[in-house]
Amino acid sequence: MSDIDVKYAALGGAGGWLGPAMTPETVAPDGVGRYRHYRSGSIYWSPSSGAHEVHGRIRDRWAALGWERSFLGYPLTDETATPGGGGRYNHFQGGSVYWTPATDAHEVHGAIRGKWAALGWERSVLGYPITDESATPDGIGRYNHFQAGSVYWTTATGAHEVHGAIRGKWSSLGWERSFLGYPLTDETTAPDGVGRYNHFQGGSVYWSPSSGAHEVHGAIRNEWARLGWERSFLGYPTSDELSTEDGSGRYSEFQHGSIFWSPATGALACRETVRLHIKCLTAPTRFSINQMIANMRVTYATAQIGVKYVSFETLNLPALNDLDVGGCTAGSATAEQIALFANRNNVTGTDVVVYFVRSTQPPFNGCAAHPAGQPGAAVASGASAWTLAHEVGHVLGLSHVNDNNRLMTGNGTDNITNPPPDLIAAESATMLASASTV
Ligand SMILES: [Zn+2]
Repeated sequence: MSDIDVKYAALGGAGGWLGPAMTPETVAPDGVGRYRHYRSGSIYWSPSSGAHEVHGRIRDRWAALGWERSFLGYPLTDETATPGGGGRYNHFQGGSVYWTPATDAHEVHGAIRGKWAALGWERSVLGYPITDESATPDGIGRYNHFQAGSVYWTTATGAHEVHGAIRGKWSSLGWERSFLGYPLTDETTAPDGVGRYNHFQGGSVYWSPSSGAHEVHGAIRNEWARLGWERSFLGYPTSDELSTEDGSGRYSEFQHGSIFWSPATGALACRETVRLHIKCLTAPTRFSINQMIANMRVTYATAQIGVKYVSFETLNLPALNDLDVGGCTAGSATAEQIALFANRNNVTGTDVVVYFVRSTQPPFNGCAAHPAGQPGAAVASGASAWTLAHEVGHVLGLSHVNDNNRLMTGNGTDNITNPPPDLIAAESATMLASASTV
């Protein structure tokens, strides 16, 4: 009896599930091994692999790949039930084919199979493969998708798994063709024991239950790392990296602050945030609201204050469009200021509301006097590029200084001589202590 005949007999012979022979024992096309087809499967033999049966959808997949002449080579096992249950597999010389009713049969091999095996095969977080190993769209790497994640491989990065919300973020950014490139790590528990991350070639994606999954990269990531990652005062990222309104800077928001970056300032960590709402009666004419907010960001970042632009609303209040601000005295408000600032419209707590009006009467660039408990300011349509930042500075507790290098110059912000204007350490401390920075 040949080894194929011995295997056939062990499986029940003609009365077994393989059924009767359909071919004689035949030399395989590769000239190395031998096979015999039966009604319900095949037995393949080679000197190095021995005789093993392969059948059903696993055999179909192996056949589609090229039988023994594929990279899989000859079977090393019969079809076997998986330890995790619900599936079947054959191992081959060059990989494996796994099948379940839900996933059908897919091959996994090489470094990707090695990663999957190290994680626990089908009992890992990944579950069963739902694709064969495939070339990535960028033409550089390889991947298998699994039921609950993926393994990506390149020669430069090796094979790493990515799954869940982190994979979802990576996918939404464009997979390996995004600035993140390929994963450099598996998903890993962060040192604080709470969150998870994957590092990638071009950055990281961090996830925690309360913050979700967000990417962080470049100089902002470097600064966050320098401060201690998630164990720093910043906690986890709550946004991807964002562009400032004028495109001149970048920032990422974190649970307890933000990091701002611009070419001029480098990366600046912000301990607190001013939550800004804009309500517009008349749009400014010299500088856009977005330009004023972008300017506010860069100046405030030097004082460790981030800016969260929470909402914009157009108000149609013609009677308040040339706003009587009286003497613009902190702590007192005119009837028109009281009427205007009553339009907080669901803005909560200590958030700052800035009303853009056609003019103030008497004419100023802006006025930060506001009714008690309604922190905010008015900015006139002829305001300077720094008026918004200046008026909110008053709201946060700052007073005028006689220095045109500084944001809080009392000589008019059009006279600022060194943009972005300075906020000194004592001013930063005052702003951080304000109830309107959180
Ligand atoms: Zn002022």
